[in-house]
Amino acid sequence: MANLNAGNGKSGAILVVGGGIAGVTCAIEAAEAGFEAVLVEKAAYLGGHVAAFHRYFPKLCPPPCGLEINFRRIRNNPRVTVYTLAEIESLKGSPGNYEAVIRIAPRFVTSACTLCGECERVCPVEIPDAFNSGMTKTKAIRLPHRMAFPAQYVVERSACPEGCRLCADACRYNAIGLAQQETWKTLRVASVVLATGWEPYDAAKIDNLGFGQFSNVVTNVMLERLAAPDGPTRGKILRPSDGKPPRAVAFVQCAGSRDRNHLPYCSGVCCTASLKQAAYIRSQYPEAKITMFYIDLRTPGQLEEFAAKTIAANGVELIKGKVGKVQEQPGSRDLLVSAEDVLKGRKIAREYDLVVLAVGIVPQTGGLPAGVNLDEFGFAADGNPGVYAAGCVKRPAEVAVSIRDATGAALKAIECVAGRAHHG
Ligand SMILES: Cc1cc2nc3c(=O)[nH]c(=O)nc-3n(C[C@H](O)[C@H](O)[C@H](O)COP(=O)(O)OP(=O)(O)OC[C@H]3O[C@@H](n4cnc5c(N)ncnc54)[C@H](O)[C@@H]3O)c2cc1C
Repeated sequence: MANLNAGNGKSGAILVVGGGIAGVTCAIEAAEAGFEAVLVEKAAYLGGHVAAFHRYFPKLCPPPCGLEINFRRIRNNPRVTVYTLAEIESLKGSPGNYEAVIRIAPRFVTSACTLCGECERVCPVEIPDAFNSGMTKTKAIRLPHRMAFPAQYVVERSACPEGCRLCADACRYNAIGLAQQETWKTLRVASVVLATGWEPYDAAKIDNLGFGQFSNVVTNVMLERLAAPDGPTRGKILRPSDGKPPRAVAFVQCAGSRDRNHLPYCSGVCCTASLKQAAYIRSQYPEAKITMFYIDLRTPGQLEEFAAKTIAANGVELIKGKVGKVQEQPGSRDLLVSAEDVLKGRKIAREYDLVVLAVGIVPQTGGLPAGVNLDEFGFAADGNPGVYAAGCVKRPAEVAVSIRDATGAALKAIECVAGRAHHG
């Protein structure tokens, strides 16, 4: 059983920062090759974005299956130590000999928690549920999501009313410690892998596409939750404004990506993600009109076949052209999408009742130690021997590529333990 939120500093270990699919893979691969791995995750649970998806392309299987296999590997491997609610405060040293200080925020709930849920029932405070992209509320004391690993409640203490102890008083197992404090640990590690992933581009910054102004404009990240059985609508994709089934859905590609005013690069996975989501819509609404507005359809490598099959099987209408504006129709709250149809050489304006913005991927590098190399777009770049990057913090990538990348990073990190540091 892995040591969760416990453990001492180790020498010769590999430090992995970020517990998404890339970080989890890297830590497991290093540990299964016989090396100590310390996995530091800032959220209360492992899995990163993948944990919130309804299905994975290309196989369209539910993510909890793949994640659960990895969590079992962690549970069964004593060489992996996991710290959740943790971030790196400082990192100094050189390949083979780093000192990392990690800061661990209190969970306020101990491993004596049995998930009985009594604390949640009595908690009087509701906060936006980040796991559902803020589309629902959750209690200040909560299990972060149904399949969370570790399966342990957590308290958003900043939201608690002064002196409130209702959850602690209701807990029959004495598992709530509202006086818990932040702690620090100093680790000696031989190498570091940065796997802090991505965050969605803030769609509200793209003022012509109506996000934040019109409630029936949602992002691709929100659509994953709308389609998920444990999401805000229990898996039924409905218009946020009136809860009605959508009859016509537009996917707007490159929402922020490949745009000098926002993200100058291609976010790599959004075209395939939108096609996957078109399949979600079709499976619920056989009659719905589905249109994808795109600049170039980018579904590289083996995803080409997934794209061709998905377009054909789901009757997705493709319009090559950048969307210029999304406007709301007064009364119906339907959306008028204006674009240039490049192939037909004309301007078009079409009505939809749901618009999904395929927002781009932004590398999550806030909270990384000073001195980490970043490229011109803000992604983590290799170049420091002993400190490597893996997954979407390095470049936009799908899960399979992130996993392969993380396995390669584990090997570089292992070589460092063995005294052979490479430049990324
Ligand atoms: C809408 C959408 C749908 C997608 N669907 C698919 C799909 O169906 N199939 C597919 O193959 N790919 C899909 N992808 C791509 C997929 O999301 C990525 O491949 C995957 O998330 C990469 O994993 P990661 O571990 O690099 O990053 P993440 O999933 O972002 O995980 C990073 C982890 O690091 C943690 N972290 C961040 N900063 C710190 C810090 N300072 N300290 C400690 N921890 C930190 C985060 O909390 C997070 O847990 C999709 C992408 C989008 C945008």
